[in-house]
Amino acid sequence: MSRVWNFSAGPAALPLPVLERAQRELLDWNASGASVMEQSHRGKRFIAMAHKVDADLRELMGIPDNYAVLFEQGGATQHFAQIPMNLAREGDSADYIITGHWSEKAANEGAPYVHVNVAATSKAESFLRMPARETWQLDPKAAYVHIATNETIHGVQFKQVPEVGDVPLVADMSSDILSGPVDVSRYGLIYAGAQKNIGPSGLVLIIIRRDLLERPIRPMAKIFRYLEHAANDSMLNTPNTWGWYLAGLTFEWLKDNGGLVAMAERNRQKSELLYATIDGSGGYYRNPIDPPVRSRMNVPFTLHDSALDAAFLQESEAAGLMALKGHKALGGMRASLYNAVPLEAVHALVDFMHDFAHRHG
Ligand code: PMP
Repeated sequence: MSRVWNFSAGPAALPLPVLERAQRELLDWNASGASVMEQSHRGKRFIAMAHKVDADLRELMGIPDNYAVLFEQGGATQHFAQIPMNLAREGDSADYIITGHWSEKAANEGAPYVHVNVAATSKAESFLRMPARETWQLDPKAAYVHIATNETIHGVQFKQVPEVGDVPLVADMSSDILSGPVDVSRYGLIYAGAQKNIGPSGLVLIIIRRDLLERPIRPMAKIFRYLEHAANDSMLNTPNTWGWYLAGLTFEWLKDNGGLVAMAERNRQKSELLYATIDGSGGYYRNPIDPPVRSRMNVPFTLHDSALDAAFLQESEAAGLMALKGHKALGGMRASLYNAVPLEAVHALVDFMHDFAHRHG
């Protein structure tokens, strides 16, 4: 078996012990004589597992009892639309903070269901910094304020929860959930696609303050309504059982490895090592983002001469470093350093970067 160091932005690396356990349990899960994928979500084994997954996540994130946790489908993209459907009435407006590709997409996809007020944007500065909180034009009557805590493509991350008063704060945490402790009580709704720090794609985690489930909203099919999903323990229809199970294995792995405080420290070390290598390369490698808001999860960087990109990608892959190609919107490179990427992988990457710069000086 040969496993590479995987820097994919998502679907991304999963913890090796999670994959190994899933492999061991694949044919005969929980002494049932069948795999977890092959049995009813309404069976006693699955229900017991679902309760444990919920309890483990609540413990890891310190989720208060007045929040519901939902295991949904449709990708974060579907919830860009479903969130305004559930939190806004016809004619309401919501504040969006645009800090990169994903928060912009959230606003665009939400626009058919809520009047989008762009309360702040760093687009004119190519998303290289965050719009200062004092400049945000928030509307106290907004249905909610939407942010993306980490921009997977542009590599900027909120390091503090912005203060937004009594208006519920809604956060797309797809690419930094579980990367460190969060104060859930500061948010009205947190959502995240699973395929970075949780498990496989096809699963979306939603953590929603229960009073928001009761908002009066326009008529809609039950399947779109979070209240119905919460009332049915995320089993209104057949859930993504395989994703739910793997998420549970990841949560157990996190608990066994010191929880979110330990993850935050590991992620700090990993990202600081890579940024120090970029900044110390005398301009050979570049990351132009305002240092205080540089992401600890996704590190985009360019080479001083884009003519070297093809060689960098080919040689890094040959060295066992996978998926360093940057998003097409930015070009260059991107290294994603999610929880499942160990410090050892980042050492291998920076060693390669030093060596490459030396050989292609
Ligand atoms: N939000 C963020 C921050 C993302 O990184 C992504 C995917 N990379 C999405 C939303 C969209 O997720 P999905 O493709 O699962 O809909």
